[in-house]
Amino acid sequence: MDKTAFLTDDLHKRKSNNQYRILKEMTKIHGIEVQCEGRTLVNFCSNNYLGLADHPVLKEKAIEAIQEYGVGAAASRYVCGNFSYHSEVEEKIAQLTGFEAALLFNTGYQGNLTIASALLNRHSVIFIDKSCHNSLVNGAKLTGAKIVRYPHSDYGYLERSLEKFGDVRKMIMTESLFSMDGDIADLDRLIHLSEAQGALLYVDDAHTVGVMGERGMGLCAGKEGVDLALGTFGKGAGVFGAYVACSQKMRDYLVQFCPGVIYSTALPPALIGAIDAALDIIPTMTNEREALFENAEMLKETLQLMDCTVGPTNSHIIPIILGSEAKALMLESWLWQHGILAPAIRPPTVPPNQARVRLSLSTSHNQGHIQRLINALQSFKS
Ligand SMILES: *Cc1c(COP(=O)(O)O)cnc(C)c1O
Repeated sequence: MDKTAFLTDDLHKRKSNNQYRILKEMTKIHGIEVQCEGRTLVNFCSNNYLGLADHPVLKEKAIEAIQEYGVGAAASRYVCGNFSYHSEVEEKIAQLTGFEAALLFNTGYQGNLTIASALLNRHSVIFIDKSCHNSLVNGAKLTGAKIVRYPHSDYGYLERSLEKFGDVRKMIMTESLFSMDGDIADLDRLIHLSEAQGALLYVDDAHTVGVMGERGMGLCAGKEGVDLALGTFGKGAGVFGAYVACSQKMRDYLVQFCPGVIYSTALPPALIGAIDAALDIIPTMTNEREALFENAEMLKETLQLMDCTVGPTNSHIIPIILGSEAKALMLESWLWQHGILAPAIRPPTVPPNQARVRLSLSTSHNQGHIQRLINALQSFKS
Protein backbone atom coordinates (compact mmCIF):
# COMPACT_ATOMS: atom_id res chain seq x y z
CA MET A 1 0.00 0.00 0.00
CA ASP A 2 1.35 3.42 -0.96
CA LYS A 3 0.76 5.54 2.12
CA THR A 4 1.75 8.73 0.25
CA ALA A 5 -0.57 8.18 -2.73
CA PHE A 6 -2.71 11.11 -1.59
CA LEU A 7 0.29 13.42 -2.00
CA THR A 8 0.63 12.46 -5.65
CA ASP A 9 -3.11 12.75 -6.24
CA ASP A 10 -3.59 16.10 -4.55
CA LEU A 11 -0.51 17.62 -6.16
CA HIS A 12 -1.67 16.40 -9.53
CA LYS A 13 -5.11 17.89 -8.97
CA ARG A 14 -3.61 21.25 -8.04
CA LYS A 15 -1.52 21.22 -11.22
CA SER A 16 -4.36 20.27 -13.52
CA ASN A 17 -6.59 22.97 -11.94
CA ASN A 18 -3.87 25.53 -12.61
CA GLN A 19 -3.68 26.18 -8.86
CA TYR A 20 -0.21 24.89 -8.16
CA ARG A 21 1.68 27.29 -5.91
CA ILE A 22 5.34 27.92 -6.71
CA LEU A 23 7.83 29.50 -4.33
CA LYS A 24 9.61 31.95 -6.60
CA GLU A 25 13.13 32.90 -5.59
CA MET A 26 13.89 36.60 -5.26
CA THR A 27 17.17 38.42 -5.18
CA LYS A 28 17.01 41.84 -3.62
CA ILE A 29 18.54 44.55 -5.74
CA HIS A 30 17.80 47.69 -3.89
CA GLY A 31 14.72 48.80 -2.07
CA ILE A 32 11.69 48.13 -4.14
CA GLU A 33 13.41 46.39 -7.05
CA VAL A 34 13.95 42.66 -7.07
CA GLN A 35 15.43 40.16 -9.43
CA CYS A 36 13.52 36.99 -10.14
CA GLU A 37 14.40 34.34 -12.71
CA GLY A 38 16.84 36.72 -14.37
CA ARG A 39 14.37 39.58 -14.65
CA THR A 40 14.48 42.91 -12.83
CA LEU A 41 11.07 43.81 -11.49
CA VAL A 42 9.46 46.63 -9.55
CA ASN A 43 7.86 45.01 -6.54
CA PHE A 44 4.17 45.82 -6.14
CA CYS A 45 3.35 43.02 -3.71
CA SER A 46 5.61 43.61 -0.73
CA ASN A 47 4.20 44.35 2.73
CA ASN A 48 7.33 46.37 3.51
CA TYR A 49 5.16 49.47 3.21
CA LEU A 50 7.68 51.95 4.66
CA GLY A 51 10.84 50.45 3.20
CA LEU A 52 12.10 49.74 6.73
CA ALA A 53 13.21 46.17 5.96
CA ASP A 54 16.66 47.37 4.92
CA HIS A 55 16.84 50.55 6.96
CA PRO A 56 20.42 51.07 8.24
CA VAL A 57 19.37 51.80 11.83
CA LEU A 58 17.25 48.65 12.06
CA LYS A 59 20.15 46.58 10.76
CA GLU A 60 22.57 48.21 13.16
CA LYS A 61 20.31 47.61 16.19
CA ALA A 62 19.80 43.99 15.18
CA ILE A 63 23.56 43.46 14.95
CA GLU A 64 24.17 45.19 18.27
CA ALA A 65 21.61 42.95 19.96
CA ILE A 66 23.25 39.84 18.53
CA GLN A 67 26.67 40.96 19.73
CA GLU A 68 25.35 41.57 23.20
CA TYR A 69 22.90 38.67 23.69
CA GLY A 70 23.60 36.09 20.98
CA VAL A 71 21.24 34.83 18.32
CA GLY A 72 18.66 32.88 20.29
CA ALA A 73 16.54 33.50 23.38
CA ALA A 74 17.18 29.86 24.34
CA ALA A 75 13.79 29.15 25.96
CA SER A 76 10.23 30.30 26.29
CA ARG A 77 9.70 33.41 28.35
CA TYR A 78 8.49 31.30 31.29
CA VAL A 79 11.54 29.22 31.54
CA CYS A 80 14.54 31.50 31.03
CA GLY A 81 13.91 33.29 27.73
CA ASN A 82 12.49 36.49 29.21
CA PHE A 83 15.00 39.32 29.08
CA SER A 84 14.62 42.96 29.99
CA TYR A 85 14.55 43.86 26.29
CA HIS A 86 11.28 41.92 25.83
CA SER A 87 9.55 43.91 28.56
CA GLU A 88 11.07 47.18 27.43
CA VAL A 89 9.83 46.81 23.89
CA GLU A 90 6.39 45.80 25.19
CA GLU A 91 6.24 48.97 27.27
CA LYS A 92 7.15 51.00 24.21
CA ILE A 93 4.38 49.31 22.18
CA ALA A 94 1.84 50.02 24.93
CA GLN A 95 2.87 53.66 25.06
CA LEU A 96 2.77 54.16 21.31
CA THR A 97 -0.57 52.39 20.80
CA GLY A 98 -2.16 54.06 23.82
CA PHE A 99 -3.06 50.75 25.45
CA GLU A 100 -2.21 49.83 29.03
CA ALA A 101 -0.08 46.88 28.06
CA ALA A 102 1.27 44.77 25.21
CA LEU A 103 2.39 41.18 24.85
CA LEU A 104 4.81 39.95 22.18
CA PHE A 105 4.08 37.02 19.89
CA ASN A 106 6.48 35.35 17.51
CA THR A 107 4.20 35.91 14.53
CA GLY A 108 0.82 37.40 13.85
CA TYR A 109 -0.27 33.96 12.72
CA GLN A 110 0.68 32.47 16.08
CA GLY A 111 -1.09 35.24 17.97
CA ASN A 112 -4.27 34.91 15.94
CA LEU A 113 -4.17 31.15 16.24
CA THR A 114 -3.80 31.03 20.01
CA ILE A 115 -5.17 34.18 21.69
CA ALA A 116 -8.89 33.48 21.28
CA SER A 117 -8.52 29.92 22.56
CA ALA A 118 -7.10 31.30 25.81
CA LEU A 119 -10.28 33.33 26.31
CA LEU A 120 -13.14 31.25 24.92
CA ASN A 121 -14.38 27.70 25.17
CA ARG A 122 -17.02 25.46 23.63
CA HIS A 123 -19.77 27.32 25.47
CA SER A 124 -18.78 30.63 23.83
CA VAL A 125 -19.79 32.21 20.53
CA ILE A 126 -17.42 33.93 18.15
CA PHE A 127 -18.57 36.34 15.41
CA ILE A 128 -16.07 36.69 12.61
CA ASP A 129 -16.16 38.78 9.44
CA LYS A 130 -16.30 36.52 6.38
CA SER A 131 -13.29 38.28 4.82
CA CYS A 132 -11.00 37.61 7.78
CA HIS A 133 -7.53 36.15 7.31
CA ASN A 134 -6.99 32.40 7.54
CA SER A 135 -5.13 32.77 10.87
CA LEU A 136 -8.21 34.33 12.51
CA VAL A 137 -10.52 31.70 11.10
CA ASN A 138 -8.28 28.89 12.36
CA GLY A 139 -7.89 30.65 15.72
CA ALA A 140 -11.67 30.79 16.00
CA LYS A 141 -11.91 27.07 15.21
CA LEU A 142 -9.33 26.22 17.85
CA THR A 143 -11.51 27.74 20.60
CA GLY A 144 -14.17 25.08 20.13
CA ALA A 145 -16.73 27.91 20.31
CA LYS A 146 -19.73 28.21 18.04
CA ILE A 147 -18.65 30.28 15.01
CA VAL A 148 -20.89 32.80 13.28
CA ARG A 149 -19.29 34.12 10.07
CA TYR A 150 -21.06 37.38 9.25
CA PRO A 151 -21.16 38.84 5.71
CA HIS A 152 -18.29 41.24 5.11
CA SER A 153 -18.77 44.44 7.15
CA ASP A 154 -22.52 43.76 7.52
CA TYR A 155 -22.94 45.21 11.01
CA GLY A 156 -26.75 44.97 10.90
CA TYR A 157 -26.41 41.22 10.44
CA LEU A 158 -23.76 41.13 13.16
CA GLU A 159 -26.00 43.01 15.59
CA ARG A 160 -28.96 40.68 14.96
CA SER A 161 -26.72 37.64 15.44
CA LEU A 162 -25.27 39.02 18.67
CA GLU A 163 -28.76 39.60 20.03
CA LYS A 164 -29.65 35.95 19.51
CA PHE A 165 -27.18 34.78 22.12
CA GLY A 166 -27.85 35.61 25.74
CA ASP A 167 -25.52 35.31 28.63
CA VAL A 168 -22.58 33.50 27.06
CA ARG A 169 -19.04 34.67 26.48
CA LYS A 170 -18.89 36.35 23.07
CA MET A 171 -16.15 37.73 20.85
CA ILE A 172 -16.22 39.77 17.66
CA MET A 173 -13.22 39.23 15.35
CA THR A 174 -12.34 41.55 12.49
CA GLU A 175 -9.46 43.00 10.57
CA SER A 176 -9.15 46.79 10.67
CA LEU A 177 -7.86 47.01 7.09
CA PHE A 178 -8.92 43.99 5.09
CA SER A 179 -5.91 42.58 3.34
CA MET A 180 -7.57 41.40 0.13
CA ASP A 181 -9.86 44.36 -0.61
CA GLY A 182 -7.97 47.20 1.07
CA ASP A 183 -11.16 48.48 2.72
CA ILE A 184 -11.48 49.52 6.33
CA ALA A 185 -13.79 48.23 9.08
CA ASP A 186 -15.96 50.68 11.01
CA LEU A 187 -14.20 50.36 14.35
CA ASP A 188 -16.40 52.89 16.15
CA ARG A 189 -19.50 50.94 15.18
CA LEU A 190 -17.87 47.68 16.26
CA ILE A 191 -16.81 49.19 19.59
CA HIS A 192 -20.38 50.31 20.15
CA LEU A 193 -21.77 46.88 19.28
CA SER A 194 -19.22 45.13 21.45
CA GLU A 195 -20.13 47.30 24.44
CA ALA A 196 -23.88 47.12 23.90
CA GLN A 197 -23.81 43.34 23.49
CA GLY A 198 -21.14 42.48 26.03
CA ALA A 199 -18.84 40.90 23.44
CA LEU A 200 -15.06 41.08 23.49
CA LEU A 201 -13.65 42.94 20.46
CA TYR A 202 -10.58 41.46 18.75
CA VAL A 203 -9.10 43.53 15.91
CA ASP A 204 -6.30 42.46 13.59
CA ASP A 205 -4.27 45.53 12.65
CA ALA A 206 -1.66 43.61 10.60
CA HIS A 207 -1.77 45.87 7.55
CA THR A 208 -2.05 49.22 9.32
CA VAL A 209 0.87 49.11 11.76
CA GLY A 210 3.43 51.56 10.42
CA VAL A 211 1.02 53.08 7.95
CA MET A 212 -2.20 54.27 9.59
CA GLY A 213 -3.60 55.53 12.87
CA GLU A 214 -2.14 57.63 15.67
CA ARG A 215 1.66 57.83 15.42
CA GLY A 216 1.39 55.38 12.53
CA MET A 217 0.73 52.61 15.08
CA GLY A 218 -2.34 51.11 13.44
CA LEU A 219 -6.02 51.96 13.37
CA CYS A 220 -6.56 50.58 16.89
CA ALA A 221 -4.04 53.02 18.38
CA GLY A 222 -5.85 55.20 20.87
CA LYS A 223 -9.13 53.32 20.38
CA GLU A 224 -10.66 52.70 23.76
CA GLY A 225 -13.05 49.81 23.59
CA VAL A 226 -10.89 47.48 21.51
CA ASP A 227 -10.09 44.63 23.89
CA LEU A 228 -7.37 43.00 21.81
CA ALA A 229 -5.45 44.78 19.05
CA LEU A 230 -3.13 42.46 17.17
CA GLY A 231 -0.28 44.07 15.26
CA THR A 232 2.56 42.53 13.28
CA PHE A 233 6.12 43.71 12.80
CA GLY A 234 6.58 41.69 9.62
CA LYS A 235 4.71 44.12 7.41
CA GLY A 236 4.87 47.91 7.74
CA ALA A 237 7.56 47.69 10.43
CA GLY A 238 9.79 45.70 8.05
CA VAL A 239 10.94 43.13 10.62
CA PHE A 240 9.17 40.04 12.01
CA GLY A 241 7.18 39.26 15.10
CA ALA A 242 3.89 40.50 16.49
CA TYR A 243 2.11 41.84 19.53
CA VAL A 244 -1.27 42.17 21.08
CA ALA A 245 -2.09 45.50 22.75
CA CYS A 246 -4.65 45.24 25.54
CA SER A 247 -5.38 46.06 29.18
CA GLN A 248 -2.94 45.06 31.89
CA LYS A 249 -5.47 42.54 33.19
CA MET A 250 -5.87 40.99 29.74
CA ARG A 251 -2.10 40.71 29.43
CA ASP A 252 -1.87 39.04 32.84
CA TYR A 253 -4.53 36.59 31.72
CA LEU A 254 -2.83 35.76 28.42
CA VAL A 255 0.48 35.25 30.21
CA GLN A 256 -1.31 32.63 32.32
CA PHE A 257 -3.43 30.94 29.68
CA CYS A 258 -2.25 31.61 26.10
CA PRO A 259 -0.50 28.54 24.64
CA GLY A 260 1.28 30.60 21.96
CA VAL A 261 3.12 32.44 24.72
CA ILE A 262 3.66 29.50 27.03
CA TYR A 263 4.89 26.83 24.63
CA SER A 264 7.08 28.75 22.19
CA THR A 265 10.64 30.07 22.32
CA ALA A 266 10.82 33.81 22.94
CA LEU A 267 11.62 36.19 20.06
CA PRO A 268 15.38 36.40 19.48
CA PRO A 269 17.42 39.46 20.46
CA ALA A 270 18.17 40.61 16.91
CA LEU A 271 14.49 40.91 16.11
CA ILE A 272 13.78 42.79 19.31
CA GLY A 273 16.63 45.18 18.47
CA ALA A 274 15.22 45.81 14.98
CA ILE A 275 11.64 46.13 16.29
CA ASP A 276 12.80 48.62 18.90
CA ALA A 277 14.42 50.74 16.19
CA ALA A 278 11.34 50.51 13.96
CA LEU A 279 9.19 51.70 16.87
CA ASP A 280 11.39 54.79 17.19
CA ILE A 281 11.22 55.56 13.48
CA ILE A 282 7.56 54.83 12.63
CA PRO A 283 6.07 57.79 14.55
CA THR A 284 8.42 60.18 12.70
CA MET A 285 7.32 59.09 9.21
CA THR A 286 4.23 61.30 8.91
CA ASN A 287 5.30 62.88 5.61
CA GLU A 288 6.10 59.52 4.06
CA ARG A 289 2.68 58.21 5.07
CA GLU A 290 1.00 61.24 3.51
CA ALA A 291 2.89 60.71 0.26
CA LEU A 292 1.98 57.02 0.30
CA PHE A 293 -1.74 57.77 0.49
CA GLU A 294 -1.51 60.49 -2.15
CA ASN A 295 0.10 57.95 -4.48
CA ALA A 296 -2.53 55.36 -3.60
CA GLU A 297 -5.38 57.78 -4.27
CA MET A 298 -3.81 58.85 -7.56
CA LEU A 299 -3.29 55.25 -8.68
CA LYS A 300 -6.81 54.26 -7.71
CA GLU A 301 -8.29 57.17 -9.68
CA THR A 302 -6.16 56.37 -12.71
CA LEU A 303 -7.25 52.72 -12.59
CA GLN A 304 -10.89 53.73 -12.34
CA LEU A 305 -10.50 55.98 -15.37
CA MET A 306 -9.15 52.94 -17.19
CA ASP A 307 -12.29 51.00 -16.21
CA CYS A 308 -10.46 48.67 -13.87
CA THR A 309 -12.57 47.28 -11.03
CA VAL A 310 -10.69 48.24 -7.89
CA GLY A 311 -13.46 47.49 -5.39
CA PRO A 312 -14.01 49.42 -2.18
CA THR A 313 -10.35 50.09 -1.33
CA ASN A 314 -9.40 53.20 0.58
CA SER A 315 -5.83 52.36 1.37
CA HIS A 316 -2.41 51.51 -0.05
CA ILE A 317 -3.73 48.03 -0.94
CA ILE A 318 -5.41 48.19 -4.33
CA PRO A 319 -6.87 45.06 -5.92
CA ILE A 320 -7.69 44.88 -9.60
CA ILE A 321 -10.59 42.48 -9.63
CA LEU A 322 -10.76 40.45 -12.84
CA GLY A 323 -13.22 37.72 -11.89
CA SER A 324 -11.89 34.66 -13.66
CA GLU A 325 -8.71 32.97 -12.56
CA ALA A 326 -7.48 32.75 -16.13
CA LYS A 327 -7.74 36.51 -16.59
CA ALA A 328 -5.98 37.22 -13.32
CA LEU A 329 -3.14 34.89 -14.32
CA MET A 330 -2.94 36.57 -17.73
CA LEU A 331 -2.54 39.98 -16.12
CA GLU A 332 0.04 38.66 -13.66
CA SER A 333 2.18 37.33 -16.47
CA TRP A 334 1.67 40.43 -18.63
CA LEU A 335 2.88 42.61 -15.76
CA TRP A 336 5.82 40.29 -15.21
CA GLN A 337 6.85 40.69 -18.83
CA HIS A 338 6.64 44.45 -18.35
CA GLY A 339 8.86 44.47 -15.28
CA ILE A 340 6.19 44.51 -12.59
CA LEU A 341 5.87 41.96 -9.80
CA ALA A 342 2.25 41.62 -8.67
CA PRO A 343 0.61 38.27 -8.05
CA ALA A 344 -2.76 36.91 -9.08
CA ILE A 345 -4.76 36.01 -5.99
CA ARG A 346 -7.34 33.31 -6.54
CA PRO A 347 -9.95 31.32 -4.68
CA PRO A 348 -9.90 29.99 -2.00
CA THR A 349 -7.87 32.99 -0.75
CA VAL A 350 -10.64 35.22 -2.20
CA PRO A 351 -14.29 34.31 -2.89
CA PRO A 352 -15.18 32.45 -6.13
CA ASN A 353 -15.22 34.63 -9.28
CA GLN A 354 -13.24 37.34 -7.54
CA ALA A 355 -9.77 36.46 -8.72
CA ARG A 356 -7.61 39.55 -8.75
CA VAL A 357 -4.19 41.05 -9.05
CA ARG A 358 -3.37 42.71 -5.76
CA LEU A 359 -1.17 45.79 -5.73
CA SER A 360 0.39 47.17 -2.59
CA LEU A 361 2.15 50.50 -2.54
CA SER A 362 5.18 51.37 -0.49
CA THR A 363 6.89 54.66 0.33
CA SER A 364 9.79 53.31 -1.74
CA HIS A 365 7.82 53.56 -5.00
CA ASN A 366 8.59 56.73 -6.93
CA GLN A 367 6.51 58.30 -9.69
CA GLY A 368 8.58 56.44 -12.30
CA HIS A 369 7.71 53.06 -10.76
CA ILE A 370 4.02 53.90 -10.62
CA GLN A 371 4.01 55.21 -14.19
CA ARG A 372 5.63 51.99 -15.34
CA LEU A 373 2.79 50.05 -13.71
CA ILE A 374 0.15 52.27 -15.30
CA ASN A 375 1.75 51.95 -18.74
CA ALA A 376 1.82 48.17 -18.44
CA LEU A 377 -1.84 48.11 -17.43
CA GLN A 378 -2.78 50.41 -20.28
CA SER A 379 -1.11 48.19 -22.85
CA PHE A 380 -2.85 45.15 -21.32
CA LYS A 381 -6.22 46.82 -21.70
CA SER A 382 -5.74 47.79 -25.33
C1 LIG B 1 0.01 38.64 7.44
C2 LIG B 1 -1.18 38.58 8.29
C3 LIG B 1 -1.14 37.93 9.52
C4 LIG B 1 0.05 37.10 9.95
O1 LIG B 1 1.05 37.88 10.44
P1 LIG B 1 2.54 37.28 10.45
O2 LIG B 1 3.23 38.10 11.47
O3 LIG B 1 3.06 37.43 9.07
O4 LIG B 1 2.42 35.85 10.86
C5 LIG B 1 -2.25 38.01 10.33
N1 LIG B 1 -3.34 38.67 9.94
C6 LIG B 1 -3.43 39.28 8.76
C7 LIG B 1 -4.67 40.00 8.39
C8 LIG B 1 -2.35 39.25 7.90
O5 LIG B 1 -2.44 39.83 6.69
